[in-house]
Amino acid sequence: MLEHELAERAKRRIERHRTESHFDPTKTLAAFDFSAVPMVSKAHVMALASGDSWLEKGANVLIFGPPGGGKSHLGSAIGHALIDAGYRVLFTRTSEIVQKLQAARQSLQLPAALTKLDRFDLIVLDDLSYASKDQAETSVLFELIAERYERRSLLITANQPLSGWDHVFPDPGMTIAAIDRHVHHSTILEMNVESYRRRTASDKQSGRRRQSSRPTGQDGCRWTGRPA
Ligand code: ADP
Ligand code: MG
Repeated sequence: MLEHELAERAKRRIERHRTESHFDPTKTLAAFDFSAVPMVSKAHVMALASGDSWLEKGANVLIFGPPGGGKSHLGSAIGHALIDAGYRVLFTRTSEIVQKLQAARQSLQLPAALTKLDRFDLIVLDDLSYASKDQAETSVLFELIAERYERRSLLITANQPLSGWDHVFPDPGMTIAAIDRHVHHSTILEMNVESYRRRTASDKQSGRRRQSSRPTGQDGCRWTGRPA
């Protein structure tokens, strides 16, 4: 009976963690087609998804690639697996958390808000490239990165490789400091593929086999795939 009760409690705890994480329940590893991203090692992703030592060390993950390539899906999928392994994870669009932190700063609650985020072993900052370019807002993003440095992990998805981050942080010094802190102890996954949706749609149309990799999107979006 006691064992059953303990197992029930652990299950309820994991379910609570999943609810607070805000992950899309459908974006799991089981639903992720690794053959669509041959440059990403499944074994490597599975190791990240088990937590290993990277979360204990406060190391980071960066996922780069053009829109539609599966960055958000893979970030969610790793997060779901970590929740299953007992970790606490938060998924948020970068613009959303930046707005919240900015509001906290205006009411002099920024340190308290950052401390509250400490309970998460991992925060997934989705779509860094779309963060606001307003100086005050991006400086809270910088503070979040600096606050967690070497203590708590971040997983960042971005359309732009690091060389494009000067569009995210208005001040070049801040860009360099953010990159430096983030990239130190980090794993970089490059998903240099054409949009998954567009590929599956055109596969259906033409009936041809899915092409697994293509360096440049059809919409002309330039993608070097090389971080600075
Ligand atoms: P990104 O964040 O890179 O713009 P998304 O993760 O939002 O791309 O992917 C776009 C859509 O395609 C989503 O519905 C996602 O679930 C799906 N998708 C992308 N890559 C894969 C994949 N390798 N396997 C299964 N679904 C994928
Ligand atoms: Mg995305």
